[in-house]
Amino acid sequence: MEILFLGTSAAVPSKEHSTSCIAVRSGSDIILLDCGEGSQRQLMLSPFSFMKIRAVLITHLHGDHVFGLPGLLQTMSLSNRTDPLLVCGPPGVGAALEAMMSVTEGETQYPVEVREVSGGESLDVNGLTVTVYATDHGIASVGYVVQDRQRPGKLDAAKARSMGVTSGRDMARLKNGETVNGVRPEDVIGPVIPGQRVAYSGDTRPCPTEDEAVRGADVIVHEATYMESEAAQAVDHFHTTARQAAEIARDACARHLILTHISNRYDDRSAVEAEARSVFPESYVAEDMGLFTLTSAGLRYDGVRTPENR
Ligand SMILES: [Zn+2]
Ligand SMILES: [Zn+2]
Repeated sequence: MEILFLGTSAAVPSKEHSTSCIAVRSGSDIILLDCGEGSQRQLMLSPFSFMKIRAVLITHLHGDHVFGLPGLLQTMSLSNRTDPLLVCGPPGVGAALEAMMSVTEGETQYPVEVREVSGGESLDVNGLTVTVYATDHGIASVGYVVQDRQRPGKLDAAKARSMGVTSGRDMARLKNGETVNGVRPEDVIGPVIPGQRVAYSGDTRPCPTEDEAVRGADVIVHEATYMESEAAQAVDHFHTTARQAAEIARDACARHLILTHISNRYDDRSAVEAEARSVFPESYVAEDMGLFTLTSAGLRYDGVRTPENR
């Protein structure tokens, strides 16, 4: 899976940073996590096609997470999209979308399915599994865990050869589930490999429902609006500090942590990253247009994508 950060700023955009939007891609299918103002333009500057978005998952209805949605939906329509789109979010997302689209005469020419969720649901998006968990942000809010498609187990070719299966054609038959010369697929093919999991917090204070939902995630994408020096403000405004996010990742036995939704007060984001790494070394702070690739070998940072460097 690839994770592309289109906007990483908290609350308001800046010259360097756009508001919350993250694209997760598996194969050619894209799931968009939140859709702050300016997201469609960021997508157009990126290597990802906005026409391949299968679902937009909204964590809550604060403007910095939804103001980009009506524009994106309208542009898809004007670009002759016919594929259906799922829009998912907490209660009220349907009414919000209806209001924004109707007053702007933004009716779409393709089917939009709106699903309102509160936590505990599981959805299928083109074979990707999305589970929803409740978060703690002072208004209706949720987080999401996106799980990639499972992959077939690995064929132990040496073992197959030792059992008398030698040709490439017969190996392929085993992979297709056929028994060859008395050798059964389960004799030489390992167990199915579960898809990797990427969790996204949206805006939240640390909370038990999140601890449970993100356990063992390959990547936790977590908000870190504040640093520990502003911990009291984080509590007051229902947000998380970089240190707390790292503690969540550590306690969840996650493999990697990527911080986003960073307050513009922190000119130097490396300090935010350092605070998290002091607790959980596998921590990164996202930058706008930063692309990460998650494979079975781990998480790779591919740097910032630019129109010249896509
Ligand atoms: Zn926010
Ligand atoms: Zn918020």
